[in-house]
Amino acid sequence: MPVIENIPIRMKPADIRKKMRLPEKYAERGEFDRFVAEVLPLLQPRAVYELEEITHKNDLGIQVGRILFNSRVLARNVRDAERVFPFILTIGDRLEKKAAEEDDLLCQYVLEGIGDLALHAVDRYVKETVCRMHGITRLSSMSPGSLSDWPIEEQKPLFSLLKQGSGVIGVRLTDNLLMLPRKSLSGIYFSTKREFFSCRLCPRENCPGRLAPYDDELKKSYRI
Ligand code: SF4
Repeated sequence: MPVIENIPIRMKPADIRKKMRLPEKYAERGEFDRFVAEVLPLLQPRAVYELEEITHKNDLGIQVGRILFNSRVLARNVRDAERVFPFILTIGDRLEKKAAEEDDLLCQYVLEGIGDLALHAVDRYVKETVCRMHGITRLSSMSPGSLSDWPIEEQKPLFSLLKQGSGVIGVRLTDNLLMLPRKSLSGIYFSTKREFFSCRLCPRENCPGRLAPYDDELKKSYRI
């Protein structure tokens, strides 16, 4: 089971400030740059993935080995694929521990935001690595719990597929199906011609994590 470590995360303070729309206090360049330089070494990015053959599929879901995943959207997204790449990735728990120790709410917010941006950076790096290793042009992903069509309960079969690897990178699933460390991401990568975003099928308003606009017509086309 491939484990990816030593993942480079290049995050410029100016980009972080821009993406997080930080207030003036954090826009004072020197102070914020020093803060970011102090925080980035806390990141411990690691990932594990597995190449799995799809052994069965229909409109309602797919079977990977002996594990079933129940999602219409996933089934449609991989209808032309023969393999998928279940994955788990994390930035470790040191950043969230620092955030928990902070009394300053704004500082906590900034640390959370840096953690989210770092997690996206790890996701991008792992996707690029899997593409390179397996001769794939473009990967998209879906995560259990991101859509009602693929509920959070499906974390269990996902973690059972990657049981050994999740231990190696130090990510565990709680009884409430949350991942620890919190700044972790799990899901299934699949090859696509056009990048797929679950956000296009999710009507939630004012979501700070939205990556693409909601598309009602697309949602109807998935029959969910
Ligand atoms: S809009 Fe927000 S809640 Fe909906 S899928 Fe995207 S990130 Fe998740």
